[in-house]
Amino acid sequence: MRYAETGFNLEVDLTRGNIERVETDPRDTELYLGGLGTNAKILWERVPPEVAPFSPDNLLIFSAGLLCGTPATGCNRTIVSTISPQTQLMAFSMMGGFWAPELKYAGYDKVILRGKSPNLVYLWIKDDKVEIRDAAHLRGKGTVETAELIRQELGEPKAQVAAIGLAGENRVYFASIEQGRSSASRGGIGAVMGDKGVKAIAVRGTKDINISQPEEYLGLCNEVLEYIKFRNENPIPGVMPILAGLGSPQEMAVHDEKWHTENFMWGNSRTRRKDFWNDEVAKAWTETMETVRTRLISCYNCPMKCGATISMPGLPTYMMKCFSKLTYTMAAMSDLDFGFKIAQRATEYGVDGFSTPQVMAFALELLENGILKDEHFQGMPSDNEGRFYWLLDRIVRREGIGDILANGTYWAAKEIGNGAEAYAHNNIKKHEQLPLKLSMLNPIYFLMYSTGEKINITQIEGQFPQAPWPTREEREAFVKDWFQVPDEKFKQYLLDWELRGENSIPFYPTVQMCCDIVDWQERMHYIDDALGMCSGLSSFPLKPPYHIHNYPKFISAGAGFDMDEAKLTQAARRYRTLVRAVNVRRGMRRKDEKPPENHWKKRFPELEKELLDTYYKFKGWNDEGIPTKASLHELGLDYVAEDFVKRGILTDSEDAPSKEASAEKEKK
Ligand code: SF4
Repeated sequence: MRYAETGFNLEVDLTRGNIERVETDPRDTELYLGGLGTNAKILWERVPPEVAPFSPDNLLIFSAGLLCGTPATGCNRTIVSTISPQTQLMAFSMMGGFWAPELKYAGYDKVILRGKSPNLVYLWIKDDKVEIRDAAHLRGKGTVETAELIRQELGEPKAQVAAIGLAGENRVYFASIEQGRSSASRGGIGAVMGDKGVKAIAVRGTKDINISQPEEYLGLCNEVLEYIKFRNENPIPGVMPILAGLGSPQEMAVHDEKWHTENFMWGNSRTRRKDFWNDEVAKAWTETMETVRTRLISCYNCPMKCGATISMPGLPTYMMKCFSKLTYTMAAMSDLDFGFKIAQRATEYGVDGFSTPQVMAFALELLENGILKDEHFQGMPSDNEGRFYWLLDRIVRREGIGDILANGTYWAAKEIGNGAEAYAHNNIKKHEQLPLKLSMLNPIYFLMYSTGEKINITQIEGQFPQAPWPTREEREAFVKDWFQVPDEKFKQYLLDWELRGENSIPFYPTVQMCCDIVDWQERMHYIDDALGMCSGLSSFPLKPPYHIHNYPKFISAGAGFDMDEAKLTQAARRYRTLVRAVNVRRGMRRKDEKPPENHWKKRFPELEKELLDTYYKFKGWNDEGIPTKASLHELGLDYVAEDFVKRGILTDSEDAPSKEASAEKEKK
């Protein structure tokens, strides 16, 4: 019997219209867990680097995490993996909500789409019955609208529907997959779904999930619930609201936006409005929020209520969560009311709430600076908000200049030329980032930005405080009950960290400490993404309920195989390395691993070089960021080493990359 997982994937060949239920290898679960881990293994094995994002041979994998559908609080993530049209690398975008548990209850761990459907279709999964159904009547429909229409025509009000909108149908590089209470937005995965001709996947399941040791498992779940209650009643003092608690309910429940609006940049990530937040703005924004927010809502099996249903007068209701509350507002230099209105349309179109406003502000900056001309914007209204609506409509329809902008700032700037590349200034690995421009280099963030492959907007941060508390007493108070650390040394790192002087950034934490901290943070994110856990209860906040000490117990009692901290760390390293291997095979090298040039004003090239050199070594990668044969062997990934040697990425005798293989391979 299989525990926690179902042991079956659904393989759908869209070209032939063929559907198969395929049993998976339990040994892979022990080595790669599930979710992201096994997705990476499948992409490595079945999508060679020659396969372009919009090739029928690219796969689009919807995976429930290993523990999704079990009673573990907040374990509800769907991990969607494919080759991204935006980065040309592996994308693994996550969504919460209810979809992944429903898939498990239908009897599957993953849905793997390959090929392309000749006509627009949707997939209907009801336990053992799986159908590919015509979706011609859903063409052009919004994501929320599509979900509702599908539920009605199936007569299944409880079906969970993941759908694309017009942006996905038109292969916009930042198209999302929306799912009622959540969305998977990064990496243009919605564009791949559109390219495959799949409008939606609807699922309803009524089966059970087996738990290996139910009593023990429920005991662990109760401990987590108790701790969530404790943390909710005891927010961490001296940090911003989103880091003081768990999850991200603050954005929908709290109205004080001083921190975001004054510290993040506006427009095309250029303008800081230092004194923006005053009593008048606070009053107006609070009124808006109180008027439009109809209800706070949670994902499956979670008490945190991070999302809210938003009802703008005259517009259909939609769900909003987290920082997308501010992205449109700040890009357009507008107010919260506008942000809520345009987000409704953007949600129906199915676009990434981070990239889209950046792309639109970028286009207007190009116009203001004479790089794009009035003729590119014929018919665009003159008022600020009207211009954003107009641009959004052009982008998702790929009309006129919208066709170029639909490829994101990196590719659009290349195509526009005439100096436009200097305006696409906020990218890492060709993907738009959080609009932050800061003063002093932060060595921890330097490593996260440079080497992260998750491309999520918060990077791989979490666990370790973003800045030290001003006094030692405060730091001592914080470390007192900091039992989540994998090693006591992290407490000392924090205790000795000062805001100013010798032990302050950029030279403290030291290079070696930065390696330890980033590695810990990354490890927790990757574990979450394999288990299907919401990072809001694990890898993102300070002092979370899930951590390296209780996760092995959850896996052992839930999935029924022996797990301890060392084995779990090794498994996470294994599939983290496999993600890197997929990307290395697709041409990613050291030259790609850098933050935006202007992310920090004060840069330290020698220190940055040392950071990257040391971290690469620490991770078992060579100077180009390629995993060495020795480290691959240690992780049981000899098959990767063999492939690298065959392709000339590593040489037979040593680990240095051949010149040819590391040459820039950048084609659209
Ligand atoms: S913490 Fe928030 S985002 Fe995470 S599962 Fe719970 S409700 Fe969803």
